[in-house]
Amino acid sequence: MTETEKILRAPADGRVLGEIVRHQREDLFQAVRRAREVQPAWDALPRSRKTECAERAARWIHRNAHRIAETVAACTGKTRVDALSTEVLPGATAWVYYARLAGKALRPRTLRRSSVLFLNKKSSLRREPYGVVGIISPWNYPFAIPLHETATGLLAGNGVVLKVATQVQPVGELIAEMIDDAGFPPGIFGLIHLPGPEAGPAFVESGIGKLFFTGSTETGKTLAGLAARRLLPVSLELGGKDAMIVLRDANLSRAAAGAVWAGVSNCGQSCAGVERIYVEKPVYDRFLRLLRARVSVLRQGPDGDWDADFGGLTTAEQKETVAAQLEDALRRGAVVTASSPEPAADPGGGLYHPALVVETDGYRGDLMSRETFGPILAVSPVEDAEEALRRANDSPYGLTASIWTADSRRARKLASRLEVGVVTLNDHLMSHGMAETPWGGFKESGIGRSHGLSGFHEMTREKVVVTERLPMMKRNMWWHPHSRRVYDGLMGALDMLFAAGPVGRIRGAFRAARLFGERFFRS
Ligand code: NAD
Repeated sequence: MTETEKILRAPADGRVLGEIVRHQREDLFQAVRRAREVQPAWDALPRSRKTECAERAARWIHRNAHRIAETVAACTGKTRVDALSTEVLPGATAWVYYARLAGKALRPRTLRRSSVLFLNKKSSLRREPYGVVGIISPWNYPFAIPLHETATGLLAGNGVVLKVATQVQPVGELIAEMIDDAGFPPGIFGLIHLPGPEAGPAFVESGIGKLFFTGSTETGKTLAGLAARRLLPVSLELGGKDAMIVLRDANLSRAAAGAVWAGVSNCGQSCAGVERIYVEKPVYDRFLRLLRARVSVLRQGPDGDWDADFGGLTTAEQKETVAAQLEDALRRGAVVTASSPEPAADPGGGLYHPALVVETDGYRGDLMSRETFGPILAVSPVEDAEEALRRANDSPYGLTASIWTADSRRARKLASRLEVGVVTLNDHLMSHGMAETPWGGFKESGIGRSHGLSGFHEMTREKVVVTERLPMMKRNMWWHPHSRRVYDGLMGALDMLFAAGPVGRIRGAFRAARLFGERFFRS
């Protein structure tokens, strides 16, 4: 069933992690078929049984936290602290949160009547699973990202088939183990290892009811095109070019520390990492001094003795992108004004890239406009908040952004003018770890939401059931045969609702009631 192709290596220290597994397209089809077979019984289980599985999954994460953090760190090059804080911990809390949310998210709702004309109708809205959902996830947060979607997908009553990025296959295997050990029914979850370009057409043709993709905007567009041919619903969590806005009254020390964490952790490879920093001129120099001081003491390395603040880039392609953007910026006037020290050793084969503060006043090229996905803090002074907003919004992306200021009322007003899916005030990036806050972008950063109630609802499709409360009535008012009398009766209904004065309304009500009476009794 599988053929082994290549060896997987840890980007931070080059050690062998295992063999790359490669399934075939038919394996995916089989996993989807199997999940479809068991899904109706899974969906029919009482919610408490599903919740028990979710709680066991959370406890499994607790028991295996160290193993997960080590595996995530080994596959990506990030530090274990990074893996634990941004993936393992939020993963465990997410299971519990979604288990509690399921009742509210899935409860059928009676819909309020829009008009007295529908007094005889009762409408309700319920949410049903898609059947089997497909999930394709990236390498940068290999445990947390697929976990949120897997958890909401399963708790909503779906089967799930997951493909993780090749570089993080061992993390995918841990997710499969978690689902298994938590007691979810065999077959309801499938893990498939396919190379990216093959995965798109295969998933679209596999029989899934919806595809959830997290990755680059480019791949997202390709997948949206493939899915469109079958009108397969998609949810797309794509790239970003996050702006951080520092206003003159901000706590600059906190802002500098926050910029470094959100811009450099995971070696800058966060979809919502800080990539552009716009600082009001009166505090620009002071902020830069603080930022430079923090960056110049960052420790980079393989994290063997818990002695690294950040690791290396995950792939060679990523290193090329970062280098090319930086070179372009430096050629066109940007200046590096601080750098983290060279790591003592580079056993991983050159995937380390120092964290840099780059001053980009006047430069508008790729480093300030395209996703960099590296440990580069590109900073630019602005006249005021208006210019900061204009420049932040001047981007094809719209994932998240942050505003740093002491004036939270003003910040909330400014937030409403940022064209992004998430705004954090005096913080950045961390809301991905909060299961309750919907996650997703505007513009080319994606379609749909993961996390929170919105993310849960993405795993369901709405069904409306409208019930006739007077089934003994022979006909509705607008049914055949049509005649002048029917027209007058319907016009009466309109007058009853909208005529200028009470007389017109009462007359209208009589005409409507006459038609209603006729239709009630005469066949
Ligand atoms: P990518 O698009 O190259 O790959 C993502 C996943 O898609 C991987 O599993 C890959 O194997 C698969 N893939 C690649 N080509 C495919 C194709 N043609 N059809 C189907 N699947 C395909 O992205 P990446 O380099 O793994 O991840 C980095 C990107 O992901 C960045 O742009 C980042 O901003 C984005 N991202 C977004 C979010 C978010 O929540 N918005 C989160 C994390 C990462």
